[in-house]
This record gives sequence, C-alpha cells and structure tokens, in this order.
Amino acid sequence: MRGRELRGELDAFLAENEQNLVAFRRDLHMHPELAFAEYRTTQRIAERLIAAGLTPSVLPRGTGLVCDVGSGDGPTVALRADIDALPLQDEKDVSYRSTVTGVCHACGHDVHTTVLLGTSLFLAQQAAAGLLPGRVRLIFQPAEELPGGALEVMAHGGISGVDRIFGLHCDPRVDVGQIGLKSGPITSACDKLVVRVSGPGGHTARPHLTADLVFALAKVLTELPAALSRRVDPRSSLSLVWGKVEAGSAANAIPDDGVAEGTVRCLDENAWHAAPDLIKALLESVAGAYGIEATMDYTRGVPPVVNDEVSVEMLAASAERALGASAVVPTQQSLGGEDFAWYLESIPGAFARLGTRSPGGVTYDIHQGTFDVDEGAIGMGVRMMAATALTALWEAGRVVDPLTTLA
Ligand SMILES: [Zn+2]
Ligand SMILES: [Zn+2]
Repeated sequence: MRGRELRGELDAFLAENEQNLVAFRRDLHMHPELAFAEYRTTQRIAERLIAAGLTPSVLPRGTGLVCDVGSGDGPTVALRADIDALPLQDEKDVSYRSTVTGVCHACGHDVHTTVLLGTSLFLAQQAAAGLLPGRVRLIFQPAEELPGGALEVMAHGGISGVDRIFGLHCDPRVDVGQIGLKSGPITSACDKLVVRVSGPGGHTARPHLTADLVFALAKVLTELPAALSRRVDPRSSLSLVWGKVEAGSAANAIPDDGVAEGTVRCLDENAWHAAPDLIKALLESVAGAYGIEATMDYTRGVPPVVNDEVSVEMLAASAERALGASAVVPTQQSLGGEDFAWYLESIPGAFARLGTRSPGGVTYDIHQGTFDVDEGAIGMGVRMMAATALTALWEAGRVVDPLTTLA
C-alpha cells in the first residue's frame, strides 16, 4: 500500500518539478568545476536546499556539503552524490554545452547531483507532512575524480550516526528507466606501484664482482607478477602490470640504480588490503637472491565498491516500487574505480547503476567529450533514490519496532 501511495506522490512531485530539475542539470553542465573547486556548484545546491527550508552545512574547504532532512532518534540513511567534473573538452553540440574550456561533466556527476537535489526536495516535503520515519543525510560530495572527496566528507563527520548509505552512477549501457544492480563487488581497486633498485655498478665484464642490476631488475619485473598469481586467490583477479622501466645508459656498464612503475588492479577487497605487504615480501626475496637493494612506493587508489546484500535488496524493492516490476537488471563488476567504496568500508550500503541511454539510442561512454544522457534519467533517479531512502527507514524502523519483535 505504501508503495502505491509513494508512486502517486512521486508522480505529483515530478509533474511539478521535473522541468526545473532538468534546467538545474543543464546549468551545472554549462558551468562544470573540477575536484575541490566546486564553489559555484555547492552554492547552487545550497540555495535550493535553503529555499526548501533545509539547513545545509558546507564542508570546511568550501566545496561540497551535507544536510539532514528529518530529525529525531530514529534510523539515519545517507544518500550520496558526487558533484565534480573532469579535465577534458566538451565535444557536444548542444545548447547546454560546457562554457569552461577543458572542463566537462563527462562522468555524469551533474546528473547525480540533480537527482539528489530532486530527492532532497521530495523528502523535505515528506518530512514537512510528518511522513519521514527517521533522518536522511544528504551528502553532496566534492572531488570523486581526484579522488579524496569521500575521505574529506568522512573526516568531517559526514557519515557519523549513519546506519546505511546509498549512491548511484550513470550507466550509458543501461536504458533509461532501468537500474543495474549487483551484490558484492561492483567496481575495482587500482593502486600505483613504484619499485626502485640499487646495487654496486661496474663493468659488464665482471658481473660477479658487482650486482648485475639490470638482470636483477628484469627478474623483479617478471617474478613479481608471476609469484603474485600463485600467492593470491585467482578469483580476486589481482594483477600487477608494469608500464614504465628505466635503468642504465651504456651497453657495457652495469648501472647502480633502476626503477619500474606499474599498476595493481584488484576485484576483491581482502586481496586489495593484503596486496602491499605481499608485494613487499616478494620484492625483498627476489632482490635478496641477486644481492640488490629494493624499495617500493605503494600508492593506494580506492578499494572496490562492495555492495551489501541487504542494501541491494532494498534498492531492488525500491526500484520496482517506484519504476515498475521490470526496472531492475543485472550488472557486472567494472574495472573502474569509485570512491564511494570508502563509505562502504565503514557502514553497509549499496551503489546502483542508473540507466541513461535512450532506448534504442547510442551509447555515449563516460570520460569522453561526447558523453551525454537521456534526461528522462533524472526523474527515474529521483524516484529510485526517494523510494530507497524511505524503504531503508521503514525497514530499519521495523527491526527496532517492539510490537513487530513481539509478534
Ligand atoms: Zn569518472
Ligand atoms: Zn563518476
């Protein structure tokens, strides 16, 4: 019953607000801002929230904000949108083309922001009518592309007191009106590895009196990926691939240092956590066998987004409730990274893929200057996010409801 009422209320809300939301998205699209420089975007969001009677709290750097809807001691559900654009040229010929040279909303974060704004306005109406059974924390996160924005939000208490969190991303391979869902890992980790080797150089006539550094570096290059593939569960798809190697300057001189750089990609969260220590141990054993010194710099990217099963069920039920019985489609784990993963390291939640392709239309890939969406996706996103917040609050309330427990 709640579902049917909710759908009617969302229909009414969107009939009144959808055009406005599309205009809001186009304004953001015309004025994209890079990571941690989203001052205008933050201002525009804050203005709309304040006009709806809400009290946004801008993060200390002045970009990104959090805002609570509803109050009381009930459960708290967070909804997150990322707000930053990419450093690439808009190549579209549309009226809302980017007005900033070399900056473009080519990852759809303008759509995510607009969806969350629409959801916020709807939930504010629900709260005013006494229909919000808890609190919703709206997170308009800066700097997803850098990354660093999620950690910035968390460092300032953005998810403290939050029981569950949801987010979404445009997916140009899914038709508008559909939502791609998957339990477990849905994106991947990608880290950067730099290995430096050193040893006493010398003449190539006498490798036994030096350490044959180039030979030893070659061993590191081949042995490390090979050993990893035997030491880590193959299902984790942990792979180390080198992209750059440098050592030496003359054919008959053994150099005294060298460097190799590569990436470590991984589909599995546990393997990702264990990767730096394992790689360090393997590196030391290979280097030790050839008498060279080896050090490594391991730079963490983001972990994989690992969707919580219960949260995915809530998303699925909400999508069906708000968009129709056939709205949910399966989706695959991508090799891309997404910093929503940091929230899920602390609290349960799930990340959905919002269909943005016009049915039968062209697939414009993200991170391309030609990327664009079917703007019907905005209303669909609002329906799903609003329904998800309410479903999660209803479900959380059901668990702590003593009458239900007694029954
Ligand atoms: Zn992106
Ligand atoms: Zn993105």
